[in-house]
Amino acid sequence: MSLAHLLVRHARATPQRAAVFHGAALHATYGEWAARSAGLAARLREAGLVAGDRVLVFMHNHPRYLEVLWAAWWAGLVVVPVNAKLHAREVEWIIENARIRWGFVSSDVAPEPLAGLERQIDVTSGEADAWFAPVPDMNTVPVTERAAGDVAWLFYTSGTTGRPKGVMLTHRNLMTMGLTYFVDVDAVAPDDAIVYAAPMSHGAGLYAIPHLMAGARHVVPASGGVDPAELFALGRQVGPLSTFAAPTIVKRLVDHAEQAGLTPEDAARAFKTIVYGGAPMYVADIQRALRVMGPRFVQIYGQGETPMVATALSRGHLRDTAHSRYLERIASVGTAQTPVQVRVTDDNGRDLPTGEVGEVVVKGDTVMAGYWGNEAATASAIRDGWLFTGDVGCLDADGFLTLKDRSKDLIISGGSNIYPREVEEVLLTAPEVAEVAVVGAPDPEWGEVVVAFVVPAAGSAVTAESLDRHCLEQIARFKRPKRYVLVEQLPKNNYGKVLKTELRALLKA
Ligand code: AMP
Repeated sequence: MSLAHLLVRHARATPQRAAVFHGAALHATYGEWAARSAGLAARLREAGLVAGDRVLVFMHNHPRYLEVLWAAWWAGLVVVPVNAKLHAREVEWIIENARIRWGFVSSDVAPEPLAGLERQIDVTSGEADAWFAPVPDMNTVPVTERAAGDVAWLFYTSGTTGRPKGVMLTHRNLMTMGLTYFVDVDAVAPDDAIVYAAPMSHGAGLYAIPHLMAGARHVVPASGGVDPAELFALGRQVGPLSTFAAPTIVKRLVDHAEQAGLTPEDAARAFKTIVYGGAPMYVADIQRALRVMGPRFVQIYGQGETPMVATALSRGHLRDTAHSRYLERIASVGTAQTPVQVRVTDDNGRDLPTGEVGEVVVKGDTVMAGYWGNEAATASAIRDGWLFTGDVGCLDADGFLTLKDRSKDLIISGGSNIYPREVEEVLLTAPEVAEVAVVGAPDPEWGEVVVAFVVPAAGSAVTAESLDRHCLEQIARFKRPKRYVLVEQLPKNNYGKVLKTELRALLKA
């Protein structure tokens, strides 16, 4: 079944119900949302797009984000939402890789035409109004039927090789992810509201699906991003909000609550549920969050390849402070979510005994169909139906999973994944750089920050400023090193491979 039917149903049954807000202002009822998505779907079809075609979504959080997603599904298309922080060159690579013809952008994110697109629609421009004009009767625009196994969302994730890979998420994957929310994360009533503060191209946007299933309200902050004062005020205005937040965002909300002298009761008036995940949450940080904001947290662990669904640590477990293993439990990522099995295995895929550390593998209906046009990568990620996550951890006797490390060198800064090789490749194109190694350094604000160890080319006068400028020209801002350390040589093993563990130890010291 197509995800488009979720919208059709609510629009038929309760067309007058408030659906989408921009700030505290109503942007669309369910009837209006469906009439606009149906209108856009019909126009995309008339323009020649056919079922299975990919459309790019490269914009900041905006109410039209939701209208584009459901219009695309209405017309049987595949959406490719892309992180608004990516550099145009990186997006153009994705356009080429996924053979995307049309794109929906916002002018702040894509001020120039992107190479490779036939058509680029700026959703914030006057020109866009005609595309989004509602049809008088949405029933005149039939949904293009899709099989459960057809791709709905192509989710570009960074690969260890440095190039992003397109994770093929099907209608079944996303339908299962949505239903699982109600069992493992939270109950949702029609009066509830989800706020999209984190990027809608990722987890935050995926959570539109369960909230549409429940006929709830969808709120896009006026700023389109994370401004703690704005979010607290918005929650008080439109009713307690639910949201998905990386640990860095949770920290900012808690800092704000503390600085503004807010009580847990104040927090309860602004927030119903804060789902955190995407990067490690430190025990001291979640304890402080619970103390300051009360028991409104749930943790999830998942990855693009099994979106939002691998394990969850429930509200109940987070508030069960009397439990004899409470501290171990809140340091874990919880237990397997309902539709998946989770195991920890050795290199050959054999189960490891309780407490032993190995690779986390996941099987179930949320696991991707594979990587777009990359059979070799698919075959190495999914073996015998099990997704090898690249995450390393151990299970305890009660089934709680604790992540020990990530795929060795991945850096997670502010919830965003950064693969060192991507940054290294860019730095190596600077003539002043002879050798480079990029690692993550622990950081109280961002979780980790990118640090580059640089061996300057002989006789060159390299500076942090010149390298920073070089990076800015080629990669997203958030991937740039925050620090450069100039060294005479890099530590290497007998095979000439750089010893990143030594570099990390150097930073710790
Ligand atoms: P992405 O595919 O961009 O969603 O990144 C997924 C990766 O983020 C996972 O493979 C983990 O390494 C990490 N991750 C996700 N959720 C958690 C969590 N709750 N705790 C620690 N790391 C997490």
